[in-house]
Amino acid sequence: MATPTKTCGVCELRHITKPSIVWCTECDEGLCSECQEHHSLSKASRSHSVIAFTEYQKLPADILTITQYCTKHDKKYQIYCQKHVFPCCSKCIVESHNECRDFFELDDVIYNVKTSNAMCEIEETLVELAENLQKIRKNQQDNLTTFKESRKEIEKDMKTTKIKINIHLDNLQQDLMKQLYTIEEKENSTICQLLSSIEKQENEIAECKRNIMNIKQHATDLQVFLSMKK
Ligand SMILES: [Zn+2]
Ligand SMILES: [Zn+2]
Ligand SMILES: [Zn+2]
Ligand SMILES: [Zn+2]
Repeated sequence: MATPTKTCGVCELRHITKPSIVWCTECDEGLCSECQEHHSLSKASRSHSVIAFTEYQKLPADILTITQYCTKHDKKYQIYCQKHVFPCCSKCIVESHNECRDFFELDDVIYNVKTSNAMCEIEETLVELAENLQKIRKNQQDNLTTFKESRKEIEKDMKTTKIKINIHLDNLQQDLMKQLYTIEEKENSTICQLLSSIEKQENEIAECKRNIMNIKQHATDLQVFLSMKK
């Protein structure tokens, strides 16, 4: 009885396997369509509330393991022991709760539990948690956007700076080239002057050589001797 079987509990007792259509929360068992009809008419069970078996299966697994029947004695839980914080059947009380004093009717303890303050608190906590998570998510998403924008801004700055540096380097290069041209021109003119002066001196030397040849050929020894002393 601990876990809900998919087969009809009543038919199972008669060794027949039929799928459950509904689940009776009072009997804690599934019923096939025929047994459900009988169950809804029988005096003992006509006040029982049933739910569709498919809906029942959607409940969380740990909820499904909780039944209204004592698993040890197969008797319905009726009393709640405050000390053990657990429901007990009449046999449980005799067997295992000798020392216990604070017993309550189980029906009184669980009455209106779905609308109780404790349930409200749980629901409120869940709402709060969901809201907090939403805030955190929004924060982080904002961070993502901020980072993206910062990155773009830095990228833009880097490009602008690079362009500025390039312009500066271009200007520097132009200045240096200008200076180089000026120096080259100046050196050129100095060298040209020097070259023309050398040419002039070469011409003078050639003239001298021609004169000497002339003198050697046509002047007397005395003339040569005296001209060399000048
Ligand atoms: Zn059945
Ligand atoms: Zn029932
Ligand atoms: Zn028991
Ligand atoms: Zn107890």
